Formats: sequence, C-alpha cells, structure tokens
Amino acid sequence: MQQENNTEESEKGIEIASDGDVFLVVGPKEARIRVSSRSMMGASKPFFAMFNPDWNEGRNLLSQDEPVDVHLPEDDPEALKLICAIIHHRNEAVPRKLSPVEVFRVAVAADKYDCISVLKFASETWLRLREMNAQDMAFLTTAAYILWNAEAFKVLTKALVLSYDGPYLALCCEQIESAMTWRVFCLLEGQRSLARLDLADILQSGINAGDCCHRCGWNSKYAYAYLRLLQNNGLRPTQLVNISKAINSVGLLPDPVPEERSTDCTYGYKHTPPEYKKDRRWQVERLESNTGLCLFCVREGEGNPSHCSIDHSP
Ligand SMILES: [Zn+2]
Ligand SMILES: [Zn+2]
Repeated sequence: MQQENNTEESEKGIEIASDGDVFLVVGPKEARIRVSSRSMMGASKPFFAMFNPDWNEGRNLLSQDEPVDVHLPEDDPEALKLICAIIHHRNEAVPRKLSPVEVFRVAVAADKYDCISVLKFASETWLRLREMNAQDMAFLTTAAYILWNAEAFKVLTKALVLSYDGPYLALCCEQIESAMTWRVFCLLEGQRSLARLDLADILQSGINAGDCCHRCGWNSKYAYAYLRLLQNNGLRPTQLVNISKAINSVGLLPDPVPEERSTDCTYGYKHTPPEYKKDRRWQVERLESNTGLCLFCVREGEGNPSHCSIDHSP
C-alpha cells in the first residue's frame, strides 16, 4: 500500500493520532502506529477488551504518562494502519484505490478486529469491478465476502462466471481458502455450467423460429441458414467456453439469409422472416442478470430469501 503524504511517518512511527496514548507495534518488522485507545475501543470489541482497565494493556495505560507499546506481531501493518486511519477519521490518509490483494488484506484484518462496519463507505470504491486478472478477481470477491458487501459479491461472481473460462480450483490459494468457504467455487462451477447450457439453448431455439406450419420448406430453409451461421461464428454448443466472448459474438450475429428456395405455399402471404435479434436479446439479458451469487444464500444457506438483498424471482 502506498504511503500517503498526509500520514506522518517518522522515526517515532506512524502518527495516526499525534496525541495517542498507544503505539501498536505491528508485524515482524515492528511498525509503530500511534493511535488513541479510546477511538480504537469505540470501533472494535477486541480492542475494547484489550484496552479495558480490567486487562493488562488497559492497566498499563492508566499507570503511564507516555504512550504504551502494544505488540501485535502477527498482524499486517499496512492493513492495520489503514483501518486505524479510518477509525480516527483521517480520511485524507485513506487511498481511494487499492489493489485487490490489498483490499483482501484490509478485509482480513478488519474481520479479525470485528470492525468491518467502519470500512463500509471506503470499501464501496475498493470493491468495484475493473480490468483485472482472474486471480485478483478471486481476491476481491473474497474481500466482498468478508465485508458482507452483497452487491459487490454479486457483480464480482458474475464476472467470474461469464469472463473466466479456466478451472476455479486454480484460483483457490491458502489465503483465500482461510477466509471464504470453498463452496463458493463449487457454486461458481455449477452456475457457469448452467449458463453455458442456457446460452446454448437460447441459440438452438433460433432453429425453430420460422412461423409456417404447412411443410412448404419456409421453416427449414431458415433453420439450415441459421445453423450454418452459428457454425461459421464459433457458436456451436461445444464452442461456448468463454461465455462473455460468446455473448459478444451473439450480439454481432447478423440474421441468416437462406440460399435455398421454398415451395409454393397457400399461406405464403403470411410468411415473415423471423426476428432473431429481438427474441434473443431479452433472453441473453435475462441470463446475464440471473448470473452471480447471492452472498446471503452463500453465507446463511438458501431458503430464507427474505434476508437476501438480491431479487431471486425468476
Ligand atoms: Zn408456408
Ligand atoms: Zn439469496
């Protein structure tokens, strides 16, 4: 994480609160972060317990004029510095942009100190989907999971289903596994399989788009032209590997132009070329909007949709 100019860092340490009564001594390199115990206690139960007069660190605080060192050797100094800055309302010291791994590390630290609610506003920007590789997307998805941000979780899991075509297992690493249930990757796998089948079904349904039932050949000449069109554009069912790319190709697909002639038909005056694009567009839009996981269903189990922030109606 980049050092912000507005956070005073000196030999004494990082002064989040210049008159703070505590130095958090964080990580193996012992980064020193000066904070106010009162602010930390108000934002986090674990810090409340740590600085409460009934506990050791709390007793030390009462008996000394100088700031007291509190050692947190296993914690992440950069993540904790950022959380402390937010708790002390030092907004100028909080970057608007963080890398996905940095957001993940902050989320893990906030979860450990039971203060994810203080990150609510800052994390809205950090969790936004942008151009990134699939591994980073998995870190950001895990951060949204930890921070209970259902909207970001839905958007990020949707991107993982539609844009990623590799194995989800390859994205799972020790850090992610320790913070998010592996069930998410199984659910993504299931949703991606269904989305591929759904897209294949939408495309195949165009074969039956002709509207004459009098065996005049009108339907079959359109069906044949349509099948050739799918084949020439890499849209056969087995070619639908990357769903996002396939959806882009579908958007660019022209209507089929039959080369064969149909026979004379008594109801020829009723023949109208099928409206492939119109019929397809809403079905693809429905597929896209139904994709993505509901955080509440994942974390609390399905069957109680009243808790969900996402509409599950078909
Ligand atoms: Zn006909
Ligand atoms: Zn739900």
